[in-house]
Amino acid sequence: MNLRRSAILREMGLTPLWRLRNSAGTVDAAIDVNASSSEEAPEPDESSQSAHPSAPASRVAEMDWQELEETIHACRACVLCEKRTQAVPGVGDRQARWMFIGEGPGAEEDRRGEPFVGQAGRLLDHMLTALGLKRGEDVYIANAVKCRPPLNRTPEAAETAACAPFLDRQIALIRPRLLIALGRPAAQVLLGREISIGAARGKRFERDGMPVIVTYHPAYLLRNPLDKGKAWEDLCFARRLVEEGG
Ligand code: SF4
Repeated sequence: MNLRRSAILREMGLTPLWRLRNSAGTVDAAIDVNASSSEEAPEPDESSQSAHPSAPASRVAEMDWQELEETIHACRACVLCEKRTQAVPGVGDRQARWMFIGEGPGAEEDRRGEPFVGQAGRLLDHMLTALGLKRGEDVYIANAVKCRPPLNRTPEAAETAACAPFLDRQIALIRPRLLIALGRPAAQVLLGREISIGAARGKRFERDGMPVIVTYHPAYLLRNPLDKGKAWEDLCFARRLVEEGG
């Protein structure tokens, strides 16, 4: 790790406890497992909601980026449209090798129209820095649902199902070398089945010929900083997969 990156990581609250070795055997970066944050846990589900009857058309699978993003912004296919400020399609390099997928926009994301820009987003940025990556360069970030669930509750199955064609199309357009699911809801959407993060960590899954790994959502890590070490292990595993071509 060069001095400049070391200084950046220290400034961001990351100290070199876990070190990543690249294929040449040199240390690249590290992440602090003890950093803490005051981010609050998501509020409990406030109500049980059902999906709006008008689901996205199957022709989403044929859309280019412009039409896809316009369609997402105009979408009213589930009840999450009702309280959003705006839909949050995703951000980043459309030729990225790395694609990170979270659960849904939070309050800050809903205001700004970009995923992972609150406290959890800052931790994700730290994780990218520790990997030698940068938001927008070789990285694309999206969520399983594009509109903010009220009170940051977990999206319901009907909502993730209604939004799935958009994520499917983003993945198909990017064809990343690796998909990283951040948290259980994203993992379940990507893999199409119930999953436990604890049991799935460290395993290579596959979706349409692309490798998928799962790790903790940054918001969870802010509430459970002792698990940052496990997340760092997952990122080291991810990097090995990308370097080895998946
Ligand atoms: S969450 Fe997805 S399906 Fe629901 S309204 Fe927003 S864009 Fe449409």
